[in-house]
Amino acid sequence: MLFYCISLFRVVKFNLKNKNYKENNIKGKIVKIESKDYYVENNIGKVFRCSLRGKFKKDLLKKKDKLTTYDVAVLGDWVEFEIVSGSVGVINKIEIRKNYLSRKAKRLRGSLKRGERLEQIIASNLDTLYIVSSIDSPKFNNRFIDRIIVTAESSHIDVRIVINKSDLEQSKLLAKWENFYSKLGYNVFITSVISLVGIEKLKKSLNGKINLFWGQSGVGKSSLLNAMYPELNFPVGEISEASKKGRHTTVTGIMKLVEKNTYIIDTPGIREIDPYGIKKQDLGYYFIEFGEFIHQCKFNTCIHVHEPGCAVVKAVEEGKISLLRYESYLNLLNTIEDDMFY
Ligand code: GDP
Ligand code: ZN
Repeated sequence: MLFYCISLFRVVKFNLKNKNYKENNIKGKIVKIESKDYYVENNIGKVFRCSLRGKFKKDLLKKKDKLTTYDVAVLGDWVEFEIVSGSVGVINKIEIRKNYLSRKAKRLRGSLKRGERLEQIIASNLDTLYIVSSIDSPKFNNRFIDRIIVTAESSHIDVRIVINKSDLEQSKLLAKWENFYSKLGYNVFITSVISLVGIEKLKKSLNGKINLFWGQSGVGKSSLLNAMYPELNFPVGEISEASKKGRHTTVTGIMKLVEKNTYIIDTPGIREIDPYGIKKQDLGYYFIEFGEFIHQCKFNTCIHVHEPGCAVVKAVEEGKISLLRYESYLNLLNTIEDDMFY
């Protein structure tokens, strides 16, 4: 009887504990990560500094062992957390991601096995990726744009192109690149922070979405974000370079609520993106205009370089696929050959 009572007491206690655990859980979104601190925002915009519950650390070790991933929780993740005290909490659950943007992580000591690279997730649950470029200073770089397009396409994220500093351009270059990417089917925004061209239009397109901004150094990404949302107050120019370097090692991205249901993710720590996990045979599919030709290639393992009967190469020769895009393709293909397996 005594034994029965003790068992019953234990069951009730366990259930109560479990119930409290569930009831205390709050839904939130990771808006910043600084080494082991995860900043989680609840539905009314309050931010809590959280740690991960111990079980996740074990998961990470297991995954690291298999050399697949780098992070357990990432920027943009929906999580359930409970408050420990004040604005400090602990994350109990990480929801399944809708999508995520990742890149090959830098080679780390000890993480190498047969030349493999880890995957570093930059952010999750994204609606749109904006590639910010400038028409000049620095010069427009279509290779970089194509690389980010491939990264976004392979992650099923809607990608758009911003060509900034339009005030610096007098020739037809602007129209050329606008047409080039529009013809492929991508939305192109022409902007200038100086003459304020295109700012309102860009701002409108962000509405109600989670928008990640990516751009090479100096293209005016911070200036553009400030022009749309002055309250962001991102550092600009040389100051911005200094502070970006300072932040580099700890924060790769930051997420800000700018309007109702509208988020901006800035990625000051991410200057290069090498897409992760793409196989050579699949790369062609992420160049959307190759799609209609790929199925006409003689071999279904065709990687569209020297194979006989390659319909992609034929389309390039006939001018149906742009040589510039094909060069970007070959360039990326080369970087994949440096890696072994995924
Ligand atoms: P980020 O590194 O991409 O964040 O670039 P910043 O916003 O820090 O800007 C780099 C430099 O470009 C700064 O000196 C800005 O004043 C300048 N800049 C930004 N946008 C424009 C623009 O539309 N036109 C011109 N002419 N300069 C710009
Ligand atoms: Zn082919």
